Amino acid sequence: MHPQGERLGRRSFIAVLSPFLNNMEHTIAAISTAYGEAGIGVVRLSGEDALAIAKKLTGRNEFKDRYMHHCFIGDSDEALVCYMKAPHSYTGEDVVEIQCHGSSASLSDILAKLYDLGAAPAEPGEFTKRAFLNGRLDLSRAEAVIDLIKAKTKRSLGSAAAQLRGGLSDKVSSIRKSLKDLLVELTVNMDYPDEDIEEITYQKLKDSLSAIDDELLKLLSSAEEGRILRDGLQVAIIGKPNVGKSSLMNIFMGEERSIVTNIPGTTRDTVEENAQIRGIPVRLVDTAGIRESDDTVERIGIERSRRAFSEADLVLLILDSSRPLSDEDKELLKASEGSDALVILNKSDLKPEFKKEDLKTGLKVIETSALSGAGLDEIRDEIERRAVGGSAESRETPLLSNLRHIRLVKNAEREIAEALEMTGRKEAMDFIEVNCNAAFEALGEITGDAVSGEIVDEIFARFCLGK
Ligand code: GDP
Repeated sequence: MHPQGERLGRRSFIAVLSPFLNNMEHTIAAISTAYGEAGIGVVRLSGEDALAIAKKLTGRNEFKDRYMHHCFIGDSDEALVCYMKAPHSYTGEDVVEIQCHGSSASLSDILAKLYDLGAAPAEPGEFTKRAFLNGRLDLSRAEAVIDLIKAKTKRSLGSAAAQLRGGLSDKVSSIRKSLKDLLVELTVNMDYPDEDIEEITYQKLKDSLSAIDDELLKLLSSAEEGRILRDGLQVAIIGKPNVGKSSLMNIFMGEERSIVTNIPGTTRDTVEENAQIRGIPVRLVDTAGIRESDDTVERIGIERSRRAFSEADLVLLILDSSRPLSDEDKELLKASEGSDALVILNKSDLKPEFKKEDLKTGLKVIETSALSGAGLDEIRDEIERRAVGGSAESRETPLLSNLRHIRLVKNAEREIAEALEMTGRKEAMDFIEVNCNAAFEALGEITGDAVSGEIVDEIFARFCLGK
């Protein structure tokens, strides 16, 4: 580590570390599209020799910057080749993209030829890592690229795209700027007490720190929503056998998946499926009924339901209103009391044996019919409200969705909260400065302004090959 490594700005920091981070002088190549049969596929080259290698591959001598050229590769293959001259490319280096037939045979063949011509195999995420190291992207934007690739729904995509556009890094940078101003003021006051400079008072310090703390807390409050848009809302469906759990789950998944039967106790294992409800990625967990059982297989299923109940973001307790409430139903209601489970009275198309009011529960109750579809929109509304407060499209604060970012913002907030306490006790300014500095560094790790090479490597290793 450079002696001043912790305090270096991104560019100088990269200049010091880049020889260790990866071998940037290699020209790298990888297949950038998904594996399998497709109409077209893309092989990408990046680095100093990209153009020379492309010329040798195609036998073509001229490539106009950012033009598509129709080329032949070997005797039989043909491709559209686009050269993007540095620094105006994704990585900031010379890049060549080769669009060819999408079969894995074609793609592998071209890649092998590129290796023969001197290109090195790219590591996962290496293109994006180079973009970061060349100053094309800051770290939080680069990480957004991972989320964009993995986004499950339109809303998740929107959240990742906003991060890529820089919503998060702008916010973090602006908080960091306020902190920097404060640090400068503190340092000037401590180091040059005799100069004719406005003295920083504890009151002024408190005001600035409070404002920064508020911003950090606001950012943290978006973390839950961000996590859900990224990883999905986990919804556990519980209820005794035959109340309609699988039927409801199938509707939400939009297709038949788990087996629906009339024999109680068929859904023995938990079944987890991914669905999309109002653009929110939802992981639905259908469980075996929670009830005491002598049957070993069923008991395992019951054990899993209990776990799903404790791990879920939202529990849907399904009851069959066409049959009298059983002891099991009452048991489940009792277990759910005090939680924020939703009680679903299913089979509302049949003659009811009991009504909402008979339940005497503090939980929200929705009447549904998996058969007619009645009441299902109310469940969807509730899921949307729980996941995004019903306002994902119109929010102003960027979402914090990445665990690394959440941890760093939490660290920064903790430091600032402590600095605030110390300010209240009128402790020495140089102690307070230590905390402010720690917060400043933590935020710098989000944008990549202060981050260790090891972390950078770890982040980019999460990318897929060719990105
Ligand atoms: P699970 O054991 O809780 O998963 O229940 P299933 O989804 O397998 O449903 C049990 C039976 O109830 C099946 O015959 C379904 O067709 C039927 N069923 C499910 N929901 C409804 C509903 O809303 N109305 C009526 N009439 N029948 C339903």
